[in-house]
Amino acid sequence: MPRITLPDGSHRDYATPVTGVVIAGDIGERLLKSAIGIMVDGEIKDLSGVIDSDSEVSIITEGRKKEDPSAEALYLIRHSCAHVMAEAIERVIPGTQLVYGPPTDQGFYYDIHFSDDRIISTDDFSSIEEHMKQIIAEDRPFQRYELDADAGLARLREEGSKYKLDNAQRAIDGGSENLTWYATGEPGCDWEDLCRGPHLPGTGRIGAFRLMSVASAYWHGDSTSDRLTRIYGTAFPYPAQLQTHLDRLEEARRRDHRVIAKKLNLFLIDETVGQGLVLWQPNGAVIRRELEEFIRMHLVATGYQMVYSPHVGKLDLYRTSGHFPYFQDSQFPPLISSDFLQAVSDEGCSCAELSHRIDVGEIDGFILKPMNCPHHIKIFDAEPRSYRDLPVRLAEFGTVYRWEQSGELNGLIRVRGFTQDDAHIFCTEDQVYGEIQGCLALVKLVLSTLGLDDYRVRVGLRDDDTSKYAGDPKLWDQAETACLDAASTLEVPFSKELGEAAFYGPKIDFVVKDAIGREWQLGTVQVDYNLPERFDLKYTGADNLDHRPVMVHRAPFGSLERFIGILIEHFEGKFPTWLAPEQVRVLSISEKFVDYACAVKERLAAEGLRVTVDNSDERVNAKIKVGAQQKIPYLLIVGGRDAEAGTVSVRQRGIGDLGAVDLDRFISDIAAEVSERRLPTVNEEDN
Ligand SMILES: [Zn+2]
Ligand SMILES: [Zn+2]
Repeated sequence: MPRITLPDGSHRDYATPVTGVVIAGDIGERLLKSAIGIMVDGEIKDLSGVIDSDSEVSIITEGRKKEDPSAEALYLIRHSCAHVMAEAIERVIPGTQLVYGPPTDQGFYYDIHFSDDRIISTDDFSSIEEHMKQIIAEDRPFQRYELDADAGLARLREEGSKYKLDNAQRAIDGGSENLTWYATGEPGCDWEDLCRGPHLPGTGRIGAFRLMSVASAYWHGDSTSDRLTRIYGTAFPYPAQLQTHLDRLEEARRRDHRVIAKKLNLFLIDETVGQGLVLWQPNGAVIRRELEEFIRMHLVATGYQMVYSPHVGKLDLYRTSGHFPYFQDSQFPPLISSDFLQAVSDEGCSCAELSHRIDVGEIDGFILKPMNCPHHIKIFDAEPRSYRDLPVRLAEFGTVYRWEQSGELNGLIRVRGFTQDDAHIFCTEDQVYGEIQGCLALVKLVLSTLGLDDYRVRVGLRDDDTSKYAGDPKLWDQAETACLDAASTLEVPFSKELGEAAFYGPKIDFVVKDAIGREWQLGTVQVDYNLPERFDLKYTGADNLDHRPVMVHRAPFGSLERFIGILIEHFEGKFPTWLAPEQVRVLSISEKFVDYACAVKERLAAEGLRVTVDNSDERVNAKIKVGAQQKIPYLLIVGGRDAEAGTVSVRQRGIGDLGAVDLDRFISDIAAEVSERRLPTVNEEDN
């Protein structure tokens, strides 16, 4: 009979099958009181579910008010809240059909089909929330029961639930013998939903919730299928946690890079150019150029060679690399020469035949490059290489193109054309560790310069299914060890992600936390045994024989577009002086001092600073206000006394009035701040 192993390694033996309720109660009354579910061998289960074999378990509790709730607790609470919401919606708006209601990172949603004459909007939220509160106050138990597949399907057919029937059929196709329902209360009397669970013990355990928004969705995500309405909500164990979450969302809205970029003229996306294609305005281009120069300087200093490659490549090149036709759905369509198209159309070739002939390689053409790797491989391979030449490190800010779905596009974060901080290292097996370490050192330097010190790394390793992976298992062992060892030298948290390796090699991903605690996944460092094979790369070893080099792909910041999008939100547009598009603005207090203001500007510009003059007729306070709105690090206000004494009155962003400062002194201070790439000293409200 079941032996239950607890997280501390201790055992409890039970003579008969046991439930989480019994186990929690045996451990202690307090634990039972806060228990809401149970982990059984790594899976979340109902607290009342029966355990009849030896298992490792831990009790899921609602946690403490002041701590972040566990992912498992949130899962249970949010999925249960989705049921409560669906019941309330059915009460408020009759004639609905439920489709699918999962928990998510941020809360939960339910996709619902409403009859044609009824549209739900946020105006309905308060009455739905009232019903939800009532259901929660009733603290009805979630009760699970099963029907065998035939009986279950018959019931759904009788109910006429087209969508639930589809869910059920898919569960059965996936191997389920039974279908499970959860009643919110008594089966047969109270509200029920076809659902795999698990759920909370009862509705009363939903501590705090909020309905968030309404969006449209399609059945199975297919835009030619039924149009559905997705209603989003969120829930937490305690009201204070909900409030913190709402505050964070508000803060994130305030920092939305698309909104800030519009105010500061950083970039735009013009429908007539194309969705997801970024036009960098002069201000945004300054940020990008400074960042590129900073990274390039370190690349060159650490032995990288910069290269350039074109924006397109032949289909055949990408057939060799394996990027075509396999990833065709995420690529722009191929470019075929018009002569060729004419010839095949004269032959009477249909579109379907044409695309087939392109896929199988009977017709060649070009694609906008989805990856820079093959181009760099050709540069490496253009010269005979000896072991003495290795490692060869080729770097490029290389622009690549991906066909993202239009619904997925989002400012700079999700785009269709982006520039990777890409590089490919060709090295010997023994050099892999050192190369990975070098990549990580560069990332560490760049992130700390930008004040993104709070980050972690994920090391993607193989799982047990060895058939999935290309290359010699012995080399894999070595490379995985190299990745883990290198990651451990970073002195930041790192996790091993089994099964997260690419099929061609292990990888390291970076996840940074921004100023408001949100996590962003950046780019990767990846070891690759596959492409050197596919392109038959060689170098001559000390033994005078041919050897296969190992490739390391690294684009640690991912794309410059996305990285700058993150930086805009991280800094809230208040960039450090070295990145600020306009570093200094000189404001004359009246027309009389325009000449001096211009002279000050010339002095600063001669030092390589980005500076403008505001000589408008506005009052100086109005000029200050505009300068502050544009988040310029330094405003220099100049009047008669300044002109006589050779000073400027300095107003520093985030700090305020610094009074009159000798112009030479100001120049040497700001020059030092820029060359040392200092972070803003204060990152508070503008004043
Ligand atoms: Zn459910
Ligand atoms: Zn690559």
